[in-house]
Amino acid sequence: MVRKTLSDEQISAEAHRLLKQFYGYSSFRPLQLDIITAVAHGKDALVLMPTGGGKSVCYQIPAIMNEGCAIVVSPLIALMQDQVDGLIANGIPAASINSLQSDSDNRAIMEQVFAERIKLLYISPERLLTELPRWSQSMPISMIAIDEAHCISQWGHDFRPEYTKLCCIKEYFPNIPVMALTATADKITRSDIVNQLRFGEDAKLFVSTFDRPNIQLQVMPDPGKAQRISTISRLIATHPNDTGIVYCMTRKGVEAMHSELQKRGFKSAAYHAALSTETRHRSQRDFINGEIQVICATVAFGMGIDKSNIRWVVHNNMPSSIEHYYQEIGRAGRDGMPALALMFYSVGDIITLRKFATESGQADINLAKLQRMKEYAESSVCRRRVLLSYFSEPLEHDCLSCDVCSSPPQRYNALIPVQKALSAMLRTNEQVGVSMLVDILRGSQRGDLVAQGFHKIRTYGAGADLSVAQWQHIVLQMVQLGIVDIAYDQGRRLKVTPYGMSLLKSNVPVMMTMAATNATPVRKRASKPAYKNDSLLDHLKKVRLNLARANSLPAYLIFSDRTLSIIASDRPRSYNQFLAVDGVARRKATMYSEIFISAIAEWEKTHPGE
Ligand code: ADP
Ligand code: ZN
Repeated sequence: MVRKTLSDEQISAEAHRLLKQFYGYSSFRPLQLDIITAVAHGKDALVLMPTGGGKSVCYQIPAIMNEGCAIVVSPLIALMQDQVDGLIANGIPAASINSLQSDSDNRAIMEQVFAERIKLLYISPERLLTELPRWSQSMPISMIAIDEAHCISQWGHDFRPEYTKLCCIKEYFPNIPVMALTATADKITRSDIVNQLRFGEDAKLFVSTFDRPNIQLQVMPDPGKAQRISTISRLIATHPNDTGIVYCMTRKGVEAMHSELQKRGFKSAAYHAALSTETRHRSQRDFINGEIQVICATVAFGMGIDKSNIRWVVHNNMPSSIEHYYQEIGRAGRDGMPALALMFYSVGDIITLRKFATESGQADINLAKLQRMKEYAESSVCRRRVLLSYFSEPLEHDCLSCDVCSSPPQRYNALIPVQKALSAMLRTNEQVGVSMLVDILRGSQRGDLVAQGFHKIRTYGAGADLSVAQWQHIVLQMVQLGIVDIAYDQGRRLKVTPYGMSLLKSNVPVMMTMAATNATPVRKRASKPAYKNDSLLDHLKKVRLNLARANSLPAYLIFSDRTLSIIASDRPRSYNQFLAVDGVARRKATMYSEIFISAIAEWEKTHPGE
């Protein structure tokens, strides 16, 4: 392809014009314009940006700007269509060829590509490799973008063998710029990508910040099952027109959570590997289209989903590493609007994860990763600082929005409860696990407790003044401080360590943090008695959902939450005012301005003075 030679100023002006026309945005996020400029100059580029950072624009704008068609390699056929739908909705001619379409459809699309009527062509790596030999002579290719590029590396967390064959791209197209994009930061993976793809010597590396300040971070020591469910219920109730994710460690956990939430009348779906493909697809569709309020899922869910209006992600269990955690919470708030990431963690999770890590075949690495995750969960300093320092991007100030920043943990001397727990363990000959121990201390009537005669020991009921959650938090810290040990080979019974023994008759304070059960778990709004579900924004969300259904598009592809909330606060009254809203592309203004303008007027009639 002949590349137009443009100056940086010309590229910038043209890129801004296209950004407004096709995406409705008036400014680029950091690095986006630099990346676009590098490609416009024909350079290869490796782009590292967190999930939701705005990678797509970096190759889509050069694709529109240049003659010919950009090839986008993407591993997930099932989700290519969403990307293509989003582009078409904005007036950008795009298509995909894949094995889910008929051969004649695929052929028809290729004809359009050769006729230069398509600007972006999405394709899987397998398919690209079979097509390449046919294309190289005559295909009008402007650039090649490789999404989820970490899949090429064995060091990445999602290695896919078919990606390794992409190393031959440069043989076929030595002069076409290649852009590799990923949200994985680690250094070995980075250089592996550059080497394998045979990038040119003047290739550029772009690493954007991994901070996602709009995601509020919260961690809660296990408040007990009932509290967890009511916390999640409150979260759904405060976001009735949005969708969130609850990640659970096991399929059983997913099913249990899903049925609890359904029982409470919430629109929930389940997703895990043991469900039929059909059920999984339906859950995924309903999630993308906003037809459900919550999806309960294992980590199998989420890769490649770029729904921008996920307002909250809950980890019902602690993930096994910070990489996993960050990728999963990164799915929230891609539109830049406030989002919440809440994680529960418990002694039980740590026990299970430690077992998995030990048996994983890479025990050293996985135990070390688990340790970092645990330190994050137990951090008594700003959580964002802990996260970003993990990604070698230390933050120099507290974020002021995570739970630690907003209510630093209080410490107290827990010697007395610790001694009670130790005494109960010794009086039951160290034959009990966490939950039985807590029940003994609280004087529970449970059948197996009485059957074993534990109600007769002296410490039975000695800790009735504390809740189950408070006791679990104390036992968790006893494990962390090395006061007790967990015997994995003996049904996870608790054993008193020599240090624990030394505390039995000691006066030395044992400082512990308070369980956070009484702290407000979700944003302040949640503490209001009832959620008012008829703001203008709520109304516009319903209008958007109806339009989405009528157009068979996910709601966030009509307008993002961010754009919708600007519409709700600006209340545009004319086409031009509507077009001026950040995030309104020209085609969308033409299609939807009247509908939204009259929806605003209609709402105002029933809400005078608001
Ligand atoms: P990624 O692929 O990096 O996970 P996306 O490309 O899906 O992220 O972008 C995430 C969200 O950010 C999308 O809703 C997108 O429209 C929005 N976005 C991208 N660039 C900009 C920008 N310059 N201004 C405002 N929003 C943007
Ligand atoms: Zn903080």
